[in-house]
Amino acid sequence: MTARHVLITGGSRGIGRAAVESFAARGDRVSFCYRQASNAVDELVPRLQQYDQNVFHGRCDVSVASECQTFFRQAESTLGPVDVLVTSAGIVRDSPIALMPVEDWEGVIQTNLSGTFHFSRLAAFSMMKRRDTSTALVLVSSIVGSHGNRGQANYSASKGGVNALARTLSKELGPYNVRVNAVAPGFIDTEMTTEFDEATRQKAQESISLRRLGTAQDVVRLIEFLASDEASYITGQVVQVDGGLVM
Ligand code: NAP
Repeated sequence: MTARHVLITGGSRGIGRAAVESFAARGDRVSFCYRQASNAVDELVPRLQQYDQNVFHGRCDVSVASECQTFFRQAESTLGPVDVLVTSAGIVRDSPIALMPVEDWEGVIQTNLSGTFHFSRLAAFSMMKRRDTSTALVLVSSIVGSHGNRGQANYSASKGGVNALARTLSKELGPYNVRVNAVAPGFIDTEMTTEFDEATRQKAQESISLRRLGTAQDVVRLIEFLASDEASYITGQVVQVDGGLVM
């Protein structure tokens, strides 16, 4: 496969970071953003030095439309038109609905759903003009977007919105050869889930058919497949990668 420009949001940690490393290792040009400079970024950047010419990264809060536009423009002027968009930036702010602060509702919706919208819109504008069959959007959702989860009204609603966005954009962009799919991970071992106490982790593990939490790489393999020409007739799907947690 020829080298593509793959733009990944939330690329400093977790699933996004694993995607950055994996696409770069395959020879793709990779741009990625994160909300803040951190130890995670300091650690990651030297690992990418071997791909130096082909990597662009920077701060961009995905919940702010103007920051997304600036980052997207800089990424395209450095590495060329975006061929693949992976939206992995996401946060959780859990609490029962009766106690959920309005700012936690808004923060999660603005990051997980509006952030996905901002980048999808920019990518759509760039990709539709080209009608290239190798263009694709892979939106990172969650199983709770379809199945719900106690204490996650904000997060579940944001991911349900991402699923609807993937299906709708697949209809809008399909005629322009742009495929749009979502991946819906279950429990994945990243910083997002390290906040779980041991009892919660144990309980989660027991409810998973494969009896283990997923790894970021488990999710990235699916992202890579959906982004590739191997998936040339797959669009508008929300594909679970959860070890058999829900079915
Ligand atoms: P993670 O380890 O916490 O990493 C989250 C990444 O998103 C970080 O790079 C973070 O950057 C970035 N980010 C957060 N808010 C941002 C913002 N406003 N603007 C730009 N970047 C932002 O999370 P993860 O587990 O890899 O999760 C990645 C995606 O998978 C999320 O969409 C999540 O909802 C989804 N997911 C995860 C699981 C799981 O079990 N881990 C399950 C289902 C779905 P900073 O370091 O700068 O904040």
